[in-house]
Amino acid sequence: MIEPFLSDDAFLADIQRALDDAGKLHVWWLGQSGVLLQWNGKHALLDPYLSDSLTQKYTATDKPHVRMTRRVIAPERLDFIDVVSASHIHTDHLDPETLQPLFAANRNLHFIFPAAIQTEALARAGASCRSFFGLDDTQAIATNGFTFRAIPAAHNAIERDEKGRCQFLGYIVDCGPYRIYHSGDTLLYDGLAERLKHLNIYLALLPINGDRPERHVAGNLNGVEAAQLAKAIGAKIVVPCHYDMFEFNTASPNEFVAECEHVGQSFRVLRAGERLTLESL
Ligand SMILES: [Zn+2]
Repeated sequence: MIEPFLSDDAFLADIQRALDDAGKLHVWWLGQSGVLLQWNGKHALLDPYLSDSLTQKYTATDKPHVRMTRRVIAPERLDFIDVVSASHIHTDHLDPETLQPLFAANRNLHFIFPAAIQTEALARAGASCRSFFGLDDTQAIATNGFTFRAIPAAHNAIERDEKGRCQFLGYIVDCGPYRIYHSGDTLLYDGLAERLKHLNIYLALLPINGDRPERHVAGNLNGVEAAQLAKAIGAKIVVPCHYDMFEFNTASPNEFVAECEHVGQSFRVLRAGERLTLESL
C-alpha cells in the first residue's frame, strides 16, 4: 500500500497552516481525480473519492478494485468544505460513501454536477444535500469565491442525454487570479485544445491512466497525451491524476514526466495528500 504524503491529522494540520498563507492558491491531490482547493479561506473539493466503496462492491468479482494508496482523510473529518463537484456518474468521481458523510458534516455545502445526471447525483449525495447546481456545456456558477464553468469531456465519447446535455464534464474553475482546468475523465476530442488555449489556464489537472491510443479501454488521456494537451493549451503547470488508486487501472507517471520534459511543459507530480501552492501571477 502506498502511503500518502500527508494523511489524517497531519493532512488537516497542513490545511490549517495554509490558511496563514493568504493570497495564494493551495491545491492538494487526494488520489484518483480528487482535489482540494483552498482559496481566500474557502475550500472546494473536486471529484473526491474517500471511501472503499468500489473495493467492497467488486470484492469476489472478476473486476477486483484493489486499492493501491491508503486513504488521505475520512470524508466526515472535512467539516470546512464550501463546494464539492462531480464530473460524471462513475463512482470514483461521484461516491455516495464520500458524499453522504461530507454533506452531513457541512450544512451549507454546495454541490455541482452535470445537469444530465441530477437524479442520480442527488440520490448519491443523500438527504443532507440542500444546495445544488446542475451544469451543462458553457454554463457556469459562482459560489464562495469559486466559479465553475462546464466543458464537455469525452469518456470515451461526448455523450448527451435526451435533452442534449453532456453526461461527462470537465470544469474550468476560477478563484481570484487563478484559473484551473480539471478535465474529469476524458480523451482528446476535436476542439478541446482550441477551446482551452485562449483561456490562460494556470493549472491543468489531467488523467494519465489511458492506455495505447488505439484501445483507450480506460477512456482517459495517457501520460503523453496529457503532457501534450497541457502544452497545447499553454498551461503554466500541469499535475497528473487518476493513477495509483486501483491496481487494474493505473499508470506510472514516467511517460508523462518524460513527455513534459520533451515538450518543455512545466509540471509537478504530487503524492496523495501533498500540497502544491501557486503564487499569484
Ligand atoms: Zn475515473
